[in-house]
Amino acid sequence: MTAPDGMSVAFPHADPAAPALLTIDLAALADNYRTLAGRAPGAECAAVVKADAYGIGADRAIPALAAAGCRTFFTATLDEGRRARASAPGATVYALDGLFPGTAPLHAEVKVRPVLGSVEEVQEWAAFCRSRSEALPAAIHIDTGINRLGLRPEAVEALAGQKNLLAAFAPALVMSHLACADQPCHPLNERQRLAFEHLRTKLPAMPASLANSPGIFLGPLFHYDMVRAGVALYGARAVTDAPNPMKPVVALHARIAQVRTAAAGEAVGYGASTTLAGETRIATVMAGYADGIFRRLGAESGESRLTAFIGDHPAPVLGRVSMDMMTLDVTHVPEGIARRGAFVELIGPHTSIDELADRAGTIGYEVLTGFGRRYQRIYTGDPAAN
Ligand SMILES: *Cc1c(COP(=O)(O)O)cnc(C)c1O
Repeated sequence: MTAPDGMSVAFPHADPAAPALLTIDLAALADNYRTLAGRAPGAECAAVVKADAYGIGADRAIPALAAAGCRTFFTATLDEGRRARASAPGATVYALDGLFPGTAPLHAEVKVRPVLGSVEEVQEWAAFCRSRSEALPAAIHIDTGINRLGLRPEAVEALAGQKNLLAAFAPALVMSHLACADQPCHPLNERQRLAFEHLRTKLPAMPASLANSPGIFLGPLFHYDMVRAGVALYGARAVTDAPNPMKPVVALHARIAQVRTAAAGEAVGYGASTTLAGETRIATVMAGYADGIFRRLGAESGESRLTAFIGDHPAPVLGRVSMDMMTLDVTHVPEGIARRGAFVELIGPHTSIDELADRAGTIGYEVLTGFGRRYQRIYTGDPAAN
């Protein structure tokens, strides 16, 4: 893989001052979009791009997804929605957070559709539409068992009786969200589907959406008219009972700032949590917990939770992860490879997002959205650039 002088060969676009590189493969993102759309052939595949497109950069991800055929985007906040609208002027944009009091005019102004999650939100949107004499589109979010956002079943019944309210705006999508789709055998999946099936018929006929990324893999009964793909687009695992069919989108490499040799009995890092058993070469690498490398990944009592790679050479983490850096044991890596200025792989061919997440006791979603702002971001394969 990386040759001894591979630093410049492997990373021709690296800024010499960059502490770490986040490489984002937009062609893989577009391929993942097409793969997911192909898994739900009867449905429209929308892209969930909240939290800056799960950390990879919404302003680059959205045009790439649009070029791959995506026509509908979901953000969390209105501000994310406004920016998504700017990145994909022709697309439909929904903001999942729902309608905060007084924000109906702001949604209309930037043409971001609210996902209405309570009777109060429906009332406020309907009143705003009446005041403008314009039936503006919005989604209706039904809670079928996750108990976060969305109308509870009794609220759906109440709303169903208020035909004036439903006629004042343009209900464009009825949706619900699965709590356990990543566990295909969990009984709540089927319970939620049946509740959705029942409750949506109480409302005027409109397109329906239930599945997130793992929901897509639950099969056609969960697809309805639209699926909402999030984490799988970005390459993380959405299925736990089969190999991940998605292409990796993200690679992370951090730079070695220094290499030193320390003697047996010396300690490494904060808390002196690791005492060296023998003479050890230590590489100090510039990514830490402020950059999304969880402190949990540090080594305690010599037991290392994460192994970085330099080319194909493993380099386990030594000592604690600090804010801006971490230390690796490079005793067994050739000196010409583990050297000042070179890059080590933290996420890439040897370590997937999900492996890093597993080692940190978290999920790929948190790894992706935790990426810090200090990485130099390098985008490759942009389908929107052609
Ligand atoms: C985040 C989110 C999604 C996407 O979920 P993934 O598991 O990332 O695919 C879909 N729908 C709603 C309501 C969400 O909040």
